Amino acid sequence: MSIFRLYNALTRTVEPLEPSEQTKGGTPLLRFYCCGPTVYSYAHIGNFRTFLTADLIVRTAEAIGWQVNYVSNVTDVGHLTEDDTADASGEDRMAKALKSKEGEQFANVWDLARHYTSALMADWQALNLREPTVRPRATEHVREQIRAVEALMENGHAYETNDGVYFHVPSFPNYGKLSGNTDIETLAVGAAAESREVVVDEDKRDPRDFALWKKDDAHLMQWYSPFGWGFPGWHLECSVMAQKYLGETIDLHGGGEDLRFPHHECEIAQAEAITGKPFARHWSHTRFLQVEGKKMSKRDGNFLTLHDLTASADDGGRDDWGAPVDPLALRLALISGHYGKPFNFTQAALKAAAKNIQRYHDADEAVQAAIATNREGENSLEAPLADAYGDALAAMCDDLNTPEALAAAYRGVNVILSQHRQEPLSGAAAQTASYFLNRINGLLGIVRHESPDGPPPKEDDAFAEHVESLLEQRTAARSSKDWARADAIRDEIDALGVEVMDNPTGSTWRRKL
Ligand SMILES: [Zn+2]
Repeated sequence: MSIFRLYNALTRTVEPLEPSEQTKGGTPLLRFYCCGPTVYSYAHIGNFRTFLTADLIVRTAEAIGWQVNYVSNVTDVGHLTEDDTADASGEDRMAKALKSKEGEQFANVWDLARHYTSALMADWQALNLREPTVRPRATEHVREQIRAVEALMENGHAYETNDGVYFHVPSFPNYGKLSGNTDIETLAVGAAAESREVVVDEDKRDPRDFALWKKDDAHLMQWYSPFGWGFPGWHLECSVMAQKYLGETIDLHGGGEDLRFPHHECEIAQAEAITGKPFARHWSHTRFLQVEGKKMSKRDGNFLTLHDLTASADDGGRDDWGAPVDPLALRLALISGHYGKPFNFTQAALKAAAKNIQRYHDADEAVQAAIATNREGENSLEAPLADAYGDALAAMCDDLNTPEALAAAYRGVNVILSQHRQEPLSGAAAQTASYFLNRINGLLGIVRHESPDGPPPKEDDAFAEHVESLLEQRTAARSSKDWARADAIRDEIDALGVEVMDNPTGSTWRRKL
């Protein structure tokens, strides 16, 4: 069996990842949970770097013959805006988003969550991210979360106050084992910052205690529970959903480095205090991303979403960043640095990635054409391409060493292209090259779009299709001399902010400036 080594934040060493179970057919089965985003706005490229790490873990595991049960959640109940201040005085993120300028388009907070969840899934597909086996939503698992709170109250790890239900940290001596944070003051700040507390609860028994349930009958999203109307603490959803879909002890838990403390520490406490068993045996964190050497922020204009980089300028894309770029170029740029090191995303790197991706597309096209032609001739590609793939896989199994894996993959692509330039590939060589490209795409997801329909249609394309269809209907109405209908369609087109230019050969259109 191949060895897949991955840094374990729990033991602070790179060690073999070991699935604890096998399928009925004897295939190792990896049970993997990765924290997903809070859907109060579009996910940014830093979020996607974390999801790309998860995706590469899944792909590497599959490449060595494992099966993966991969669960990644959607947090569609908000948490507080001022996560990092003591006794967070912030507002619920989803509620705040609803009140913002962008929020005006949504009927309510549920509608807002639905919109950003579907945007997340479209981006996910465009970036060739593997769809999780299960993508559970926090709002659909409130009953399970309430049951977990009850269990913790029954076994003495949690208590109720006027404001909510709290996990009593001193009751769980292992608290701090993942983050190394055992200092009381740090823990108190963390508990207040991440527990969605709007005000400090004077009835808390220990400043480190964190909320499992907040009583709030004025909250925009609230559920009935034995402890009154309110909503669950943010940390609770992940430990509950991970265990529901993957079992009491999971093989691997991942997320962004900002989640290590207190989110993951709290997940461990909640889960282990109920089961008495280890929650996750291996923990993996993706380091943060900077843009041109600076923290991403809306104020500095360097806050980037997938839409910013892949949409055309007319559709709100950032042309100062070279938009629209191929989503796969963005994928390549984001995985070009090791997940365990801070990553600096730059325009230069994105440009270089776009060039590289073009080489992959060129090789793929040349190979498909050569397969169709099926020319007689030699095949000298076997050994160099088997080598290149072997090196790429070995690098990925070595703590996801993406820089080396990408270098090996690129070496293979260059072998194919330089061979093809000398003399068009024979049918046999093309088959070998195709096998290589398919395996590289399976491992790294950078050769071609995996969705059967390619990248999801841009909003712009859908708009253009709609306008063209209206123009066709108008032409039809005119040729059957149905002037009233033609005028009505004209008004409809006008209302879309589109200007129609009629000329002898037909009609063209453009968006009004
Ligand atoms: Zn989580």
